[in-house]
Amino acid sequence: MSLERIKLPISRSYPPRVSAFSLPFWTALNEGKWITSCCADCGRQTFPPKSVCPHCWSSNVIWSDLSDRGTLYSWTRIHSAPTAFADEAPYAVCIVDLDSGIRLACRLVERDDVTVAPGIPVEIVVLAYEDGPLFAARPMDTVSD
Ligand SMILES: [Zn+2]
Repeated sequence: MSLERIKLPISRSYPPRVSAFSLPFWTALNEGKWITSCCADCGRQTFPPKSVCPHCWSSNVIWSDLSDRGTLYSWTRIHSAPTAFADEAPYAVCIVDLDSGIRLACRLVERDDVTVAPGIPVEIVVLAYEDGPLFAARPMDTVSD
């Protein structure tokens, strides 16, 4: 399954520093794949990807698929942004609990048809900037019953 790409006609305001270790993550993200490091010794995933397992200190780390669905833990909308992001304000950021148990912070892509509130289901999407990808969470369709 591939993450949805949202094309943005601008460059990233604060591009990530890509290392030899993190390059596979950014390459995969650009291809719509959502992966992270997983310890081959204790089996636990970490995010962001790390070359050493923070749980057991093993450097026997492999790449594994990450859950692209989760629950919104918290969010806020930034109106007065740091200088680097001033041109993008207002924008929303959030904390997401992925279904696989990873908690991460990222941009939140708001939708006109969904009221954002803690506890709503979200999915990870690729923000395809002109100079490379970033990831974000976006509310999923609400289930009516
Ligand atoms: Zn480990």
